[in-house]
Amino acid sequence: MRVVLLGPPGAGKGTQAQIIAARLGVPAISTGDIFRANVSGQTELGQKAKQYMDAGDLVPDAITVAMVKDRLAEPDAKAGFLLDGFPRTIAQAEQLRSSLADLGQGLDCVLELVVDEDELVRRLSGRRMLVDGEMVQREDDKPETVRHRLEVYREQTSPLSGFYDSAGLLAQINAIGEIEEVTGRAMEALGAADAGRQDA
Ligand code: AMP
Repeated sequence: MRVVLLGPPGAGKGTQAQIIAARLGVPAISTGDIFRANVSGQTELGQKAKQYMDAGDLVPDAITVAMVKDRLAEPDAKAGFLLDGFPRTIAQAEQLRSSLADLGQGLDCVLELVVDEDELVRRLSGRRMLVDGEMVQREDDKPETVRHRLEVYREQTSPLSGFYDSAGLLAQINAIGEIEEVTGRAMEALGAADAGRQDA
């Protein structure tokens, strides 16, 4: 299956992406993770992306789209993938659609994790990740940056719900609850999308 996981920062996309991708037997491809790995590795791509990431802004489409195209061309993504954090703009979504069409492929489902904004702010400000054996706060999880990332999401990414709904691909699920509960809702929605695809 070819799936896009959509949802605001703090909706639990990363966690759900890992679990759902493992269940579907496809790679989870997170543009945020790829950018962070490049920043830590001090690659040229990482140097270009860092300033945008630290400010909570989107990395320009041209850089991001080229990176995703390369990743989707790798052999493990041939039979399917779950994209986490991409696309984030309508322009990225259009480029994704045309790259897949060139390969005779298309998306099967866009799963949107829905969480209200108060809960997102609460989750993001409390979030920590393990780096070199220490729990640290991501630079872009600091309160001012969190507010800005949510604004960027509202303005640039949330229009994707309508875009994918018009394409008949959108499934929205409530992403508040225990991890397993949310995974259950996601698998149910994907099952329905898969059945629809086989009927089509
Ligand atoms: P994430 O881990 O998905 O929250 O991504 C962290 C940061 O990486 C974002 O705030 C952006 O600066 C950058 N980023 C990740 N994915 C994209 C994307 N599809 N387009 C532009 N920037 C992105």
